[in-house]
Amino acid sequence: MTIKSIERIIAPPPPHMVGDGFRVHGFLPGDGRLGKHRMSPFFMLDYASLVEFSPTDTPRGVGVHPHRGFETVTIAYKGRIAHHDSAGHHGIIGEGDVQWMTAASGLLHKEYHEESFSKQGGPFQMVQIWVNLPAKHKMDPPAYQEITHENMGKHRLPNEQGVVEVIAGNFQGTKGPARTFTPIEMYNLKLKAGTNLTLNLPASYSTALLIIEGSAIVNSEKAPADHFILFLQDGEQIQISAEQDAVILVLSGEPINEPIAAYGPFLMNQWSEIEQAIQDFNTGKFGVLED
Ligand code: MN
Repeated sequence: MTIKSIERIIAPPPPHMVGDGFRVHGFLPGDGRLGKHRMSPFFMLDYASLVEFSPTDTPRGVGVHPHRGFETVTIAYKGRIAHHDSAGHHGIIGEGDVQWMTAASGLLHKEYHEESFSKQGGPFQMVQIWVNLPAKHKMDPPAYQEITHENMGKHRLPNEQGVVEVIAGNFQGTKGPARTFTPIEMYNLKLKAGTNLTLNLPASYSTALLIIEGSAIVNSEKAPADHFILFLQDGEQIQISAEQDAVILVLSGEPINEPIAAYGPFLMNQWSEIEQAIQDFNTGKFGVLED
């Protein structure tokens, strides 16, 4: 086993609003330096860092929009998020829960702050990741997995040092409930200050950490809150030492070595497929969803 080298530790880029509900730092595809294949199968990562929303009677969010060719994975750390789509799926997730939506052949959806959270206001923090699909599954039927905190795999560390919550993949024999189309490891590490943990992930996988809360030393380098730690594809081990109580998102996946044609909410292999997606959207083939 050798250490997985850190390529870059990326500070949060200036935030932008997605709709009026999500104030996000776009770590992926990023500022152009990383490239659209760099973290394959993870194509996009928007991080809504911790922010306080004032109470409102009109839930903030993003109105009806389409997706095709990939999956959207939403992880709630603070606050509650509601989701509706044209395939008839509806869900509300709260702190610690995950929505895993497979857009695949296409659907319309809307993403909002949940109603009672909106009325109350309060702290809000989440991550949305776009997970690419291999060409042979891009036109599969849409699907939806609600992965509650309750049904996640939980690997408890000795001496109450914390827990590894497994969303997808397998951490030391503890499996995550998410069904994925390519091999993906996705965990939340919840570590008490002073805890040391070693991850072993395949050298060939695209791997990154996002420090959600607290700070850590990662392979001897300081990893502050809200920073994105990008690794080279050169080793297996990541050594993490929590400096404070920390929450860390682990992303690691086998790259999909296929061409990417990306345009707005569509993620395909060829431009002709993007043109087809636009045409299908304009002719109502993504279904119907009320705003
Ligand atoms: Mn969306």
